[in-house]
Amino acid sequence: MPTKICACCGQSFPPDPRVKNQAYCSSPACQAERRKRWRQSRSRTDEVYLDNKSRAQRAWLDRNPDYWRTYRANGAGTPNKQIIDSKPALAPLSGLYRIQFIPNIDPAKSDEWIAEISPVCADCPCKENECKDITRSTN
Ligand SMILES: [Zn+2]
Repeated sequence: MPTKICACCGQSFPPDPRVKNQAYCSSPACQAERRKRWRQSRSRTDEVYLDNKSRAQRAWLDRNPDYWRTYRANGAGTPNKQIIDSKPALAPLSGLYRIQFIPNIDPAKSDEWIAEISPVCADCPCKENECKDITRSTN
């Protein structure tokens, strides 16, 4: 039976056939060391990840040089206010909606669909969004 040399204690051990690339023997101290080394290599991986992320953020700022000017103009307590304000307010998305396709008569945008999305209850007989409440009892 082939044996392996433990990467921690240096003793030879019979590898468990269920464990691929087993490098540590089964002693609790060596298993604890294995987990510790795994965590350390993992946090190094995370550092690389964070470094890539901050690089990506810097690249984004290079493309959006007005971001911090806008941020400061709106006061530090309201980051990105102008960008937020320029977006239409989003209604809650859960519920029943009707999608109605509208003919697109603009030949320059012939590959686009125009769809109108409206809440079903806006013009359904209940008028009070009751039909959205599917758990409501009917007794
Ligand atoms: Zn060992």
